[in-house]
Amino acid sequence: MPVCVAIVGSGPAGFYAAEALLKAPEGDLRVDMFDRLPTPYGLVRGGVAPDHQKIKSVTAVYERVALRPEFRFFGNVALGRDLQASDLRGHYHQIVYAVGNEHDRRLGVPGEDLRGSHSATAFVGWYNGHPDYRDLSFDLSAERAAVVGVGNVAMDVTRVLARDPDTLAGTDIADYALEALRRSRVREIYILARRGPAQAAYSPDEIQEIGGLASADLVVDLGEAVLDEASRTQMSNPRVKKNVDYVVEQSRRGEGEKPRKVRLRFLVSPVEILGEKGRVTAIRLEKNRLVPDGKGGLQAEGTGVFEVLPVGLVFRSVGYRGVPIPGVPFDEKSGRIPNAEGRVVDPATRQPLPGEYVVGWAKRGPSGLIGTNRGCAAATVKLMVEDQTAGRLNRAGSPDAIPALLRQRGVEFVTFQDWKTLDSIEVSRGAQVGKVRVKFTRVPEMLAAIRGAK
Ligand code: NAP
Repeated sequence: MPVCVAIVGSGPAGFYAAEALLKAPEGDLRVDMFDRLPTPYGLVRGGVAPDHQKIKSVTAVYERVALRPEFRFFGNVALGRDLQASDLRGHYHQIVYAVGNEHDRRLGVPGEDLRGSHSATAFVGWYNGHPDYRDLSFDLSAERAAVVGVGNVAMDVTRVLARDPDTLAGTDIADYALEALRRSRVREIYILARRGPAQAAYSPDEIQEIGGLASADLVVDLGEAVLDEASRTQMSNPRVKKNVDYVVEQSRRGEGEKPRKVRLRFLVSPVEILGEKGRVTAIRLEKNRLVPDGKGGLQAEGTGVFEVLPVGLVFRSVGYRGVPIPGVPFDEKSGRIPNAEGRVVDPATRQPLPGEYVVGWAKRGPSGLIGTNRGCAAATVKLMVEDQTAGRLNRAGSPDAIPALLRQRGVEFVTFQDWKTLDSIEVSRGAQVGKVRVKFTRVPEMLAAIRGAK
C-alpha cells in the first residue's frame, strides 16, 4: 500500500513539499493537494505584483509536479469547512500544512481602522483579483499616501501606486484595479521605516526598482540616511552595504523632476493615525533612535519628538500572520503552527503529533523569498521520510474515498485538469485584449466557467 500524503495549501511551500516527496527514493507514494480556492499557486497568483510577471514563471515547475500520475489536486476544498482535520487523519498517513500566513499584522495604534487606512494584504489581494478582496474598494483620490514598513511587500505596494498605470495594462492586474489606478490622484508616497537604512528589510533589487521608475523620483533626506556607529558595523554585510550605498546615492539626487515622489523616511514610527469624519487625514510619527535589542541587533526607541504628516491614505505593510484552522494546533503568539523543525507538535506537551507536518510561512513565519520555501519544504520532507521508514504514520484508510466524500458533502471540487481549463480561458481572454491573462476573480464565476467548458 503506498504512503498517502495530504498537502493543505497549493502555494510554493505546498508544491515544493510535493516535489520533494515525489523525488524521495522511497517511491511508492501518493500526494493529494487541497486548496480552499479553485485556483492553485497561493501567493504566486494572489501576491506577486503584476509588474513581476517573470517571477510567476516558477509555476511551470509546480505544474510539472501536478501532472505526475501520483498527484491529485482538489481545489475549492477548504480545511475546516469542507473537510475537517479529522477527515484527513482518517484517510492519509501523513498531512502537510502549507497554509501560509493569510492575515496582516496590525500596528496597534489608534486610528488604524479609519477609512483610508488599509492593510497591504488587502490592497495586494485586491489588485491581484483575489476572490477574498476583489469586492473591496480603494479610494485613491488623496494626493499623499503613507506606506508603513520597508519590506518587499511595502515596495510592491509603493511601486503599484507610483507607476504609470499604462505600464501595468498588459499584465494580469485586475481590470477594476487598473481603472482605479488610472483615476488615482496619489502624487506623493511616504515609505516609513522605523529603523535606519542598514536595517531595511527590502532587497536591494526592490528599492532600486523604485529608484528606476520613469514616473517617480525616490527622494531621501541625507540627514536620515546617516548611519549611527552601531549600524556602521553592519556594513560588512553585502546586502546592507548595497542598500545603504543606494539610499545615500539617492539622497544626493534631491527632488528630481518626475511627476510623482516616493519619499523614503527612516527612524520614524507611527503612533497614531489621525482622521476627520472617520477618514484618514494624517499620521502622527515619533522620531526614533536605535538601541541594542539584547539579541545582537538594534531596535527602534522613541525619542519623544513627534511630527504630523498630512496623508489621506495609509497602507500598513508590517508583515503577515497565520490564521488558525479548526482542529489544527496554532500558536497565537507567533501566528504559526507549533512545530519542531517541521513536525507539528502538541502545544501543551511539545511532543510531535504523529503524521502531521508543516512547511513554509506556517512553519517558520512570513520571511524569505519564494525559493526559500524549497529548502524549507525539503527539510520537513526529510523528517517525513524518516518517519515513513520508522513506521511512524497515521493509521489511515484510503484516500480513494475522498472524491465521493466531497461529492456527498456537496463540494464542487476542482481537479488540476479543471484548473488547466480555467487557465487557458484566462489566457485566451487576455490575448483578446493584449493582456497576459484576464483572471476570474469570483469563485462562482470560476466554477461556472469550468462547468461551461465541460
Ligand atoms: P518583512 O520583510 O518582514 O517587512 C516588514 C516590515 O515592517 C519591516 O520593515 C519591519 O521593520 C516593519 N514593521 C514591523 N512592525 C512594525 C511596526 N510596528 N511599526 C513600523 N514598522 C514595522 O515583511 P513583508 O514585506 O510583509 O514581506 C514578507 C516576506 O515576503 C519577506 O521575506 C519578503 O522579502 C517576501 N517578499 C518578497 C518579494 C519579492 O521578492 N519581490 C515581494 C513581496 C514579499 P523592522 O525591520 O524594524 O521589524
